[in-house]
Amino acid sequence: MADLNILEGEMTGWRRDLHAHPEFGFEEMRASAFVAAKLREFGLEVAENVGGTGVVGTLKRGIGNRAIALRADMDALRITEQGTAGYRSKNPGVMHACGHDGHTAMLLGAAKLLAEQGGFDGTVRFIFQPAEEWGKGALAMLDDGLMERFPFEEIYGLHNMPGLPIGHFETRPGPIMSAEDNFEIVLAGVGGHAARPHAGNEVLVAACALVTNLQTIVSRRLSPADIAVVSVTELITDGTRNALPGLARILGDARSFRPEVSAEIEKQMRVIAEGTALAHNVSAAVNYTREFVPLVNDERLVEEAFAAARTVFELDHIATAREPMTGSEDFARFLANVPGCFVFLGNGNSAPLHNPNYDFNDAGLIYGVGFHAAIVRQRLPVA
Ligand SMILES: [Zn+2]
Ligand SMILES: [Zn+2]
Repeated sequence: MADLNILEGEMTGWRRDLHAHPEFGFEEMRASAFVAAKLREFGLEVAENVGGTGVVGTLKRGIGNRAIALRADMDALRITEQGTAGYRSKNPGVMHACGHDGHTAMLLGAAKLLAEQGGFDGTVRFIFQPAEEWGKGALAMLDDGLMERFPFEEIYGLHNMPGLPIGHFETRPGPIMSAEDNFEIVLAGVGGHAARPHAGNEVLVAACALVTNLQTIVSRRLSPADIAVVSVTELITDGTRNALPGLARILGDARSFRPEVSAEIEKQMRVIAEGTALAHNVSAAVNYTREFVPLVNDERLVEEAFAAARTVFELDHIATAREPMTGSEDFARFLANVPGCFVFLGNGNSAPLHNPNYDFNDAGLIYGVGFHAAIVRQRLPVA
């Protein structure tokens, strides 16, 4: 093959086919069958149904006993696509709005290139994970024995980034994406007639006070040096016209970069919820869950990623991301087991991620393949 133009055309075809057939997390039946068939066609050893719909391809060359992993995500979102491309979603209400179709096509392209051209000595694991958006797919693969059945010593992943020009590369050492926690606070009192609030213990005024008081966690309880977000996203009551609510649910989302900060947010939330409820003579129950762990890049392997990038990208298109992002990424679960690095590749001026008009930019495919192949050849060098 050797001709990158041919590979680019093939990847574009795969990407658009995946885009037209998006599947929600753990339902990636068609995508995982597509991936497995391609990997077999390229001559890889293939394991399917790893952690549900996950696929692992293994490629060995030479005599080296080191192994590294490259990872892509396959799932789509419950969003109705508004774009008008000929390959727009054929599955109503489901859409590749995060570019995982592009990530999958890039990693397939890298598997094909490395299978045909080699240039490395050791083992490469190609990991196609399900359910990234849920924050559940990586753990499902790990719980299914990923590290024991397909061992590797380090792992690399990438995500496209709207707003960053095509052909640009960014990452940073240490924390780069946040943990995500979810919370639900239920306030219970006694509802009643809107005309006689004093006769019960309605919960809406207490809920409004609590939403306001929760704003003080970040502004008054955490160190200004710690980045964190506490967002209340829903306030739902059982009140109606002329009836005061006896039940209110407050739901929301918290982001942080260190487990100690996540623990402090939960602790302060419980104190504030109980105190506010007491002041309003109602009760509060807090349910606090941890959905994503923080994504922390290995300092040394970030340097390796930058070195690989310098063989693929123009030098002035490579940058250190200035600050961590408060979005979350399931790749973090792999990094909790082995060191590695997560990087961002430009998607040009597309709509934002998770927007109904978003589309992965096919001009970025070749850069993803270039980075994957470069990091493999650099980390598993031929003696
Ligand atoms: Zn996403
Ligand atoms: Zn994504």
